[in-house]
Amino acid sequence: MLWKLKELIPIEDICAYADDILILCNNLETLEKCMETIEKWSEENNMKINKSKSAIMEFIHRQKRKRNLVVGQKFKDYPIVDQYKYLGTWLNSKLTHETHLRQVINKTYTIRRKLSPMIYSISLEMRKNLWQIFIMPLYEFILPIYHQEQATTKRNKMELALRNSFKSFTGLKKGMQTKLIQDLMDYDLNERSKYLYDISQKRWKTRARKEIQNVGNEVGNIKSSQENPQNLCKYMPKSMIKYLNMLTSLCPKCKDKHRCSPEHLLKYHKIKIMTAYDVSEDILKYQKARKSKKMKLTRADILNYVNNLIQPNLDKLKEVLNSK
Ligand SMILES: [Zn+2]
Repeated sequence: MLWKLKELIPIEDICAYADDILILCNNLETLEKCMETIEKWSEENNMKINKSKSAIMEFIHRQKRKRNLVVGQKFKDYPIVDQYKYLGTWLNSKLTHETHLRQVINKTYTIRRKLSPMIYSISLEMRKNLWQIFIMPLYEFILPIYHQEQATTKRNKMELALRNSFKSFTGLKKGMQTKLIQDLMDYDLNERSKYLYDISQKRWKTRARKEIQNVGNEVGNIKSSQENPQNLCKYMPKSMIKYLNMLTSLCPKCKDKHRCSPEHLLKYHKIKIMTAYDVSEDILKYQKARKSKKMKLTRADILNYVNNLIQPNLDKLKEVLNSK
């Protein structure tokens, strides 16, 4: 069948995966011919096409409204749609990430609700792990489209949705600075989408050249080339979440609306408490010191150390918040 289709459209406009086939055509005439080819082949090979599960989608320019096909109607018994899920990705006729994002947000909500009892009892580190396992892959699907998106509002919408999903999984408060959330999340849409886009392009070109695919084995790696020195959530207990949330409270000592951040408390009230970055650095130092002394260090040792590190800061902060 592919051989016959190739006579009608270029090979790179045919995507076939198992019994799933997607073809790109420039006009209705070609589309009709391709459909005839597919139908004829299916009949000869005793394969029945499920027309109601198939669909035709017209890609149109963002600013244009005029369509050749009417959504909701049928073309040769195939429904005409303006959005379609193909191999896990929701595509729409304007090729924006919005349709997929809407699905992702709903899915995130459902997953988060199901994991609720578990999330409540685990550390910040484990919560982030769950988020990486369940939520990150949902976003990965649309990153190539996001990468090409020019509209800032659309880009911001996706970045916001991603941060919100992270907050909802970790229990971190809404008022937390974007920079800190970003660092805790350690997943940059810009960087990651550029990386995936480059790989997709390479694959596309390879495919067009009909070569054996050997690029993109590294796609599975969550991290891109620039790796942060330390995962900020590493070894962070549940108490860290409480601590960070308390830091977003308004300072009771000031009349103006200032948050009780370590920077603020030091500058205006000469109170010194640790930031998440300080704690993370301290953990690294502790590990190094132990290692240099060739002392055995278990995960439980580190967790214990971190808890003892955070507690006095938490107590100090509580005192500030309870004072007037
Ligand atoms: Zn203050």
